[in-house]
Amino acid sequence: MTDVFPHTVKEMTPDIIRLTFQLPLGIDHAHCYFVRGVSGEWIVVDSAVAYPGTEAVWRSVIAELDAPVGRIFITHYHPDHVGGGGLVHEITGAPVFEGELDFNACLAAWAPPANKRRFSGLLEAHGFDMDVAAGAQASDEILAANVRHHAAPLFVDEGDVVDGWDVIHLPGHAPGHLVLMRDNVMISGDVLLNRITPNISRDLQSGPDPLARYLETLDRIALIAPERTYPGHGSPIENPAERAGEIKLHHDERLAITLSALDAGPRTAYESSYTVFPDDLPPFLRRFAFLETLAHLEYLALKGDIQRIEAPGQPIQYTAE
Ligand SMILES: [Zn+2]
Repeated sequence: MTDVFPHTVKEMTPDIIRLTFQLPLGIDHAHCYFVRGVSGEWIVVDSAVAYPGTEAVWRSVIAELDAPVGRIFITHYHPDHVGGGGLVHEITGAPVFEGELDFNACLAAWAPPANKRRFSGLLEAHGFDMDVAAGAQASDEILAANVRHHAAPLFVDEGDVVDGWDVIHLPGHAPGHLVLMRDNVMISGDVLLNRITPNISRDLQSGPDPLARYLETLDRIALIAPERTYPGHGSPIENPAERAGEIKLHHDERLAITLSALDAGPRTAYESSYTVFPDDLPPFLRRFAFLETLAHLEYLALKGDIQRIEAPGQPIQYTAE
């Protein structure tokens, strides 16, 4: 007998069941949801990471359901959401629905050498410490070995309906981030989280200004004003419009801190990340801190509040002068 992979199952409503896996990542868990479609069948939303032992959990939870799993829906390409999609498809035979933008991001992010080189190039261009980068890369490889995303999803986008649930595109945390909404309830992936704020990274997949996209998403959530959202991490959000406002304020404050990193003169994004995130962080979290800082610097630069300094053979710097 192998040990059961650590998880919990919670019935949130008769039509929404939450399956939570404990994960050895920056966030210590990820939620997957079973939501009832208009057909009466279940839709699996997000799939965690296919670590050894998760298959037995999926099989036993699915065996207890009162109806089959008819569909699988992936909110975005990050490993803790997409990483078990292929596995859940093998178990259920259900089609996988995913956005095309994020599927392409998924292929790029989990594709071997060419992407690794491009990503190293991005880090180096912004003065990132390449020893720290090597440490983060080691964590990536352990994770990548357990990512089993589905290779041929059916593409969906805003305006499509998946078994009675409306698909909405809310980019920022990921470029093609999709959510499902029905009866004013949103299954929201990482668009909105309680207590912590979703990571906004400027990376190879993000497009030039992910923070601008995310601030638009927060405005949109305030307009849509769902009654409740069920996120990929942490507790359900009972007042999503208010939470969106709080996160907007948080980014205003973070933009001010990012600007202050340039008070004493030009700085690289890597140097600035120590002003915005002064704590001692393990390599993969320092890389997140850097990518988040870079998203804020690029937002300010694209708005014209600061300037980028690019000189041959030198890391890119930013200046407020
Ligand atoms: Zn996540």
